[in-house]
Amino acid sequence: MLKTGYVLDKRYQNHINPPGHPERSERIAALLDLMKNYKREGLVRVEPRPATVDELESTHDRQHIDRVAATAEKEHFVFDLDTHASSRSYETALLSTGGLLALIDSVMKGDIDNGFALVRPPGHHAERDRAMGFCLFNNVAVAARYLKNQYDLSRILIMDWDVHHGNGTQNSFYDDDSVLYVSTHEYPHYPGTGALDELGTKKGLGYTVNLPFPPGYGDEEYIEAFHRIVEPVARQFDPDFVLISAGFDGHELDPLSQIRLTTKGFSAMTGSLLSVARDHAGGRMAAVIEGGYHLDAMTESVACVLDRLGEQGRDEEPVGRGETCFAVSAVRNIQQQFWKL
Ligand SMILES: [Zn+2]
Repeated sequence: MLKTGYVLDKRYQNHINPPGHPERSERIAALLDLMKNYKREGLVRVEPRPATVDELESTHDRQHIDRVAATAEKEHFVFDLDTHASSRSYETALLSTGGLLALIDSVMKGDIDNGFALVRPPGHHAERDRAMGFCLFNNVAVAARYLKNQYDLSRILIMDWDVHHGNGTQNSFYDDDSVLYVSTHEYPHYPGTGALDELGTKKGLGYTVNLPFPPGYGDEEYIEAFHRIVEPVARQFDPDFVLISAGFDGHELDPLSQIRLTTKGFSAMTGSLLSVARDHAGGRMAAVIEGGYHLDAMTESVACVLDRLGEQGRDEEPVGRGETCFAVSAVRNIQQQFWKL
């Protein structure tokens, strides 16, 4: 079994959204419950630390950081209709980003093989200059910069399978060929970005890969997309580290989407990325949770990902499907200009 670290802390409950908000503290309570009972050989808890302002400044404007910091001790602050802060949101957001950085330190030190940061608030919608879509700081974008700055790694793969497009992450690396951003998402859907022809710009052209999927897609289509596009592109990119923006709001039970993934799909996607990490990045991989709003579906999926992270890169079964589904072949056609597919 591989050694897998996880970050989870009751302090992640201290960011409070208004009543009825899907991104709620109960998500962490449910994960704490899960981890009380979840047993697996080689599983270790990693203690989170707060991210520093310097670390955040790799990705965010100082004004944005200051604006979030200024919400501390305010009972309620509204960034936009979806995105709120309570009195302890700033410290929780620092701990959310820092939790992922602590996990990365453990992977890089060799204390663990890979890991999963079970944190909130989530991050992938947060832009350089603003909070957005339940996200205050962009955890995975800061993590990619941290790997480059702190550890001198040259090529980072970010796979974002959250059901929403990670606009903030895409924009962070849109002109950058050292970070390959790949996103599967329901389309059209919030936040509206992530179209097929968003490919990156300047030297980053080709290093943004969007797989916009129609409502109703599920395990079969996702697994096919991983076989035909995600894995071949990732292998050509030859990453030094694999990061996953792991949202579980594409689960068939989740109220925020019409994508129909199940635990089988999440496990297969993990397996595929694990084999990329094994063959290219010395196994180094870290996932961070983004969305996931049906508590049982989310915790069950997290458990499946943690199970799979322990396996020594078992290669994924090829899909049985004879024909490529429409959206996957459309992405393939456009990506053939950049990648040998
Ligand atoms: Zn989402």
